[in-house]
Amino acid sequence: MVSQCPYSSLCLPATDLPRIVVIGAGFAGINLIKKLHNSPVQLVLLDKNNFHQFQPLLYQVAIAGLEPDSIVTPIRKLFQGYRNLIYRLAEVNRVDPDSRRVFTDIGWVQYDYLVIATGSVTNYFGLEDVARNSVGLKDIRDALDIRSWVLQNLEAAAITCDQNEKEALTNFVIVGGGPAGVELAGALSEFRRYLLRKDYPEIAEEWMKVYLVEATDRLLGTMPEAASDHAFRTLSQLEVEIRLNTTVQGYTGSEVLLADNQTLLAKTLIWTAGVKGAAPEGLAPESGTKGRRLKVDPFNQVEGCRHVFTIGDIAAMTDEEWPQGHPMVAQVAIQQGKLLAENLLHLIRHGTFKTAFHYRDKGSMATIGKRNAVAKIGGSVWKGKLAWVLWSTVHLFSITGFKNKLMVGINWIIRYLNYEKANRLIIREFKPQQTKVEQT
Ligand SMILES: Cc1cc2nc3c(=O)[nH]c(=O)nc-3n(C[C@H](O)[C@H](O)[C@H](O)COP(=O)(O)OP(=O)(O)OC[C@H]3O[C@@H](n4cnc5c(N)ncnc54)[C@H](O)[C@@H]3O)c2cc1C
Repeated sequence: MVSQCPYSSLCLPATDLPRIVVIGAGFAGINLIKKLHNSPVQLVLLDKNNFHQFQPLLYQVAIAGLEPDSIVTPIRKLFQGYRNLIYRLAEVNRVDPDSRRVFTDIGWVQYDYLVIATGSVTNYFGLEDVARNSVGLKDIRDALDIRSWVLQNLEAAAITCDQNEKEALTNFVIVGGGPAGVELAGALSEFRRYLLRKDYPEIAEEWMKVYLVEATDRLLGTMPEAASDHAFRTLSQLEVEIRLNTTVQGYTGSEVLLADNQTLLAKTLIWTAGVKGAAPEGLAPESGTKGRRLKVDPFNQVEGCRHVFTIGDIAAMTDEEWPQGHPMVAQVAIQQGKLLAENLLHLIRHGTFKTAFHYRDKGSMATIGKRNAVAKIGGSVWKGKLAWVLWSTVHLFSITGFKNKLMVGINWIIRYLNYEKANRLIIREFKPQQTKVEQT
């Protein structure tokens, strides 16, 4: 019989091994854990969701291209056979570095080493009415909400005789011209081109408008200009109405207020314009940055906090090459997770860290509709079909689980051939939530 651990209220077995508590089963957390499989440590993984999600394909769930279960994997399935791992479905509220405790909604746990890998959340930059009336695209629930919202509004547009109402219901505004916004805008405009007439004969194609609003002077601002130009041209050909140098000031639920005093009538607003770190409370305010990330040294240790580490989106590590911190992308999270595992083992065995983190930028990419993408690999930019093949291959290989790879692959082949989106289902009604906005 396993004796009960006196250092936790989470029903953990007692152990003499060093205990590493990991918060978050995102890209960073799962790569750290995979590296520590079979190591002489007790791993305690806490996540508020019982699944790991593949965020790069959320937009395809949102626009009814994929089912949610093809891009999420249950955590317990992912780590079957990991004898040194204990998983608890728990939301972490606070950490206390003095007593080395983590407090969750189901109890507390004491750690020897703490790894915070909680990622990021949508940043509304203090725009309360936008947060209240719109939806972000950060997790699988958001994606399902967007899918329901789009389809609900098209259903409502099909039966209204009020022209203003019809216009607002068929106008879709996406805010943020980064990869998520560009991919979503491309997918939505292809929905209009290939499916609207078939599914909604009551709605003329020219009534449905897709707007993409971006605050800076180009799309895909983190990629080279050639990629931005290609994205702009391709989306324009797909009849996406792109507004550059335009910020959103507010949203009433049916009217988007733009900085130039213009308004857009729209009953759907999707916000992909920014994220901020999702740090739990309890760490010294000095360790936080403006974007709510946590400052770490080159070994991912939180400044001024021994044995507390952060990896992935939440970690703000700066160096000469990255004075503002690394980009919040999957590769940074994966590389930091793997390296911290090695450094933690070295710390436990020898009392010192082994290797400082250096980010190897493997490139970035984004799709722009069907069979079109841009990719930056090293110094070169790929565009069009070749980039799309590259994008598809990389994403297919990166999804966790063989079944998921198979489901996504089959779905893509069907869509490549005939553009059928099988998942046009409103499973649960969506109403914009009253999201509480913290000032940033
Ligand atoms: C729509 C979208 C598209 C993207 N596309 C790309 C792309 O094409 N390429 C790319 O490289 N990157 C992309 N990214 C970024 C990439 O997904 C992130 O950089 C990456 O997921 C960060 O990994 P992470 O482990 O730090 O955090 P996450 O993967 O976000 O994981 C955080 C985990 O922590 C858990 N958690 C959070 N708070 C708590 C808490 N208080 N208690 C318990 N558990 C908690 C969450 O449930 C989650 O499982 C995209 C992101 C989005 C939103």
